[in-house]
Amino acid sequence: MYVRRLQRLGEKYRVRVSLRALQDDITIADLERAVAGISAEPQVDGVVVQMPLPNHLRSADLSCAIDPDKDVDGITVASAGKLYMGLPGHRPSTALAMMEILDSAGVEPLGKRTTIVGRSSVVGHPLAEMMLYRHATVTIAHSRTLDLASAIRQAEIVLVAIGRPHMIRADMIQPGVVIVDAGINVTPDGVVGDVAFEECLPIAAAITPVPGGVGPVTNAVLLRNVVDSAERRSR
Ligand code: NAP
Repeated sequence: MYVRRLQRLGEKYRVRVSLRALQDDITIADLERAVAGISAEPQVDGVVVQMPLPNHLRSADLSCAIDPDKDVDGITVASAGKLYMGLPGHRPSTALAMMEILDSAGVEPLGKRTTIVGRSSVVGHPLAEMMLYRHATVTIAHSRTLDLASAIRQAEIVLVAIGRPHMIRADMIQPGVVIVDAGINVTPDGVVGDVAFEECLPIAAAITPVPGGVGPVTNAVLLRNVVDSAERRSR
């Protein structure tokens, strides 16, 4: 679903999105070689490895395989290090999209009590760095957090990326909270977020829907990163 949407958006903005499907029983060494080969192609301006990888590939280190200049989804150690140090570089697109949504809604992170639910290296963790950089007071909650409800209830901004349908309920949030939900969960009732949107909507000051919230902004941010990369490489 995600790749198809990206391809459609690419056609609209004349960014060629080409899918290279690899065998799911590929070895780590062959995966790293294949990604390195794609990254080295001169006509390629950005490389995205669609996550999650199959379990046997989880320890693959694609940091050396992807040219940091083409790391448009910010997954390499070089990009993560630049984020941590506050240096310019490619950022993970979903986390960046969530920041863009806050900015476009005029939500200023400075000084705000912010709870991020989820600490993955692709969304929650980089998002925490970005919010810290913007001077938010950040709490990171995860599957071992003992009292998730109170971690969320104390927050003025709640940023969610867990992958559990409708896990954040109305009784866990404070009135006037701003909620950004990256969750994408395919259920018998369709695609839903990690936040129970309908019941949180009347309580929150602002909340993103799923679908139609973080997902499309992520794709737009990713394509923008590719265009930036192409412009930098053509200089
Ligand atoms: P992930 O790697 O599986 O990480 C999930 C995180 O949620 C982990 O940190 C996990 O904690 C935490 N978690 C799981 N169950 C929890 C619980 N019961 N209470 C509190 N925390 C819990 O997933 P991800 O890649 O970050 O993706 C998260 C969601 O975002 C998924 O629905 C995914 O489809 C979606 N997503 C959307 C986009 C987009 O463009 N919109 C992009 C990427 C991902 P532990 O660390 O303790 O295990």
